[in-house]
Amino acid sequence: MAWVLRGLRDGVVTTRYPRQPDDYGDGFKASVSVIAGSGDMLEGDAGRATGVAEKLAGLCPTGAIRLESGLRVDRGACILCGNCVKARPDLFAFDSSPEVATIGRQSLVVPSEDDDSLGLVRAELAKRVRTLRRSIHVRHVDAGSDGGEEWEVAALTNPIYDVQRLGIFFTASPRHADVLLVTGVGTAGMAGPLRRTFEAMPDPKVVIAAGTDATSGGIVHPTYASGDGVGSIVPVDVWVPGSPPSPFSLLHGICVGIGLLAGAESAK
Ligand code: SF4
Repeated sequence: MAWVLRGLRDGVVTTRYPRQPDDYGDGFKASVSVIAGSGDMLEGDAGRATGVAEKLAGLCPTGAIRLESGLRVDRGACILCGNCVKARPDLFAFDSSPEVATIGRQSLVVPSEDDDSLGLVRAELAKRVRTLRRSIHVRHVDAGSDGGEEWEVAALTNPIYDVQRLGIFFTASPRHADVLLVTGVGTAGMAGPLRRTFEAMPDPKVVIAAGTDATSGGIVHPTYASGDGVGSIVPVDVWVPGSPPSPFSLLHGICVGIGLLAGAESAK
């Protein structure tokens, strides 16, 4: 009886994303941005910029902050620790929009530069996945994760996110899978199983690197047992930064991968 009353009180809790964004989708720290104009200011004085670059680089435990053609942050290497935002709120800020997935790895470096080759990559992916509609099966592989991404992946099937309403289902078999969702740094021990999973999937197929660890190897990269992410093991189509990415960011990545949404290539 308590469950019935609770259901009547709360109504429908399931998100309508991507048809309609939810306010609470912006409640997660999804990425770090460079405050507009601040990089230009540093670039103006080469001597000063060099000293500042060293100090800024020292703030970041993963080398995500760069001063090359202006101040930039590689979201694919950012673990959202907040050091830079705390130390230099005049230069960096958290961005809460969950739509951070991109098709090109280079697009995760913001402010991003125009890249003509991206259009071709996007067109090739769109052509490849145009037959993937209505019933999408996702094979999730943990390739050396710390477990953070797995909590968020598991949340996709709960009543809030309910990916089944979009015709998206998780499958245990690569033979039935259209999408390979990879989490973790891509350890040496998982390279073979990950490659075999990819090869066992029928065409057309899409590969999504989910999380900063999968994108760049995370805070530990490189080690004797891992490299710079899973892109060197399987051909990644969509990159989802975040440590871990929220369920909305994962859902955005899947929707970008199957052509339901455009990627965040215009991130500035
Ligand atoms: S939030 Fe942390 S990891 Fe990300 S760019 Fe800033 S210092 Fe680097």
